[in-house]
Amino acid sequence: MPEETTEDTLASTAPKIKTRKPEQRACDERTEKGRLCAGHLKRWYDFPPEIEAVVGKGAEVDRCGFCKTLFRPDPKQQPNSYTLRY
Ligand SMILES: [Zn+2]
Repeated sequence: MPEETTEDTLASTAPKIKTRKPEQRACDERTEKGRLCAGHLKRWYDFPPEIEAVVGKGAEVDRCGFCKTLFRPDPKQQPNSYTLRY
């Protein structure tokens, strides 16, 4: 196999980052077989520098516990517009 270029290598190792829909709690990524992942999205705080370079320092990031796809909050959704009630 020929050596891949640096760009290709970066692309293949870069995490997949999707935008989370409002109130989305489960991963909507599909597997290779076309099935819904439905993994639990969990807030990810201690992401490595290479992720921080993509999402920004202190960004709000959720990660699927199953396929590891990253989710960012919908930029149109203001954080303080959420009704937080526990
Ligand atoms: Zn997933």
